[in-house]
Amino acid sequence: MADLQGLYQDIILDHYRAKHHSGLRLPYDVEVTHVNPSCGDELVLRLSLDGTTIRDISYEAQGCSISQASTSVMTDLVIGGSTDHALALHDGFVEMLEGRGTVELDEDTYGDAIAFNGVSQFPARVKCAMLGWAALKDAITRGRS
Ligand code: ZN
Repeated sequence: MADLQGLYQDIILDHYRAKHHSGLRLPYDVEVTHVNPSCGDELVLRLSLDGTTIRDISYEAQGCSISQASTSVMTDLVIGGSTDHALALHDGFVEMLEGRGTVELDEDTYGDAIAFNGVSQFPARVKCAMLGWAALKDAITRGRS
C-alpha cells in the first residue's frame, strides 16, 4: 500500500510540475473562474467547443498540487471527446470523492485520475481535487445554453 501511495503521489507531482494544456488560449467559447477559498486554489478555465465536441480546454491555475494536478488530468481525459462523455466522467469523479474510500475510479476509464482515489479519505482536500471538474461542468453548462 505504501508503494501504491508513492506511485499515486508521483502521478500527482508529475502533473503539478508539468501541467498538461496549461495556459490561456484562443479561441474559446466560455470562460469561468472558480475558487476554493478553504485552500486558496484559483482557476480560470476556458472551454472551446466544436458542436458537442470539446475542441480545447485551456486554463490558468494557482494553488495546491492536488487542485492543479487534478485539473491537468481532467483536460487529458475530456479534450477531443463529447460534452456528454465529459459530464459522465465528472459525475463518476464526484461519486468517488463523496464515497469516502468506498468507490474507486477504474483505470481504463480514468487513466491518471485514479491517483485521486485516496483523496476521498481527506475531506479537506476533496474540494481541491474537485475544482477543475466543477469548473468544467460549469463551462459546459454555460456553453450549451
Ligand atoms: Zn487545494
